Amino acid sequence: MSIVNIADKEAKKAQVSKFAVIEMEIGTLAGIEFDALDFVWQAAVKGTVLENAEKRIRKIPAKARCGDCDKVYLLDYIYDNCSNCGSFLKIIIQGKELRVKSLETF
Ligand SMILES: [Zn+2]
Repeated sequence: MSIVNIADKEAKKAQVSKFAVIEMEIGTLAGIEFDALDFVWQAAVKGTVLENAEKRIRKIPAKARCGDCDKVYLLDYIYDNCSNCGSFLKIIIQGKELRVKSLETF
């Protein structure tokens, strides 16, 4: 998990061995299974600087701009079509984020 690598680097920078809290922003199209995240998380952070960190996640809803009518709309799935004209042509403008927003030490 790249999140762990990011935290690892930050820990070295801040010269801490563990983080208390990690805040993340994850887009709904980032390829993360939110339902499975807890399970995956436990395994991914074991023995790392995030092992005991409380994770806070902000879900970022996916948004696209229609390639035909220019309307900006929310989408649940990558293949959703425009809510205004039904077009499948679109540019994803939000929802693929996967970033660490903040890390807090004890
Ligand atoms: Zn449209």
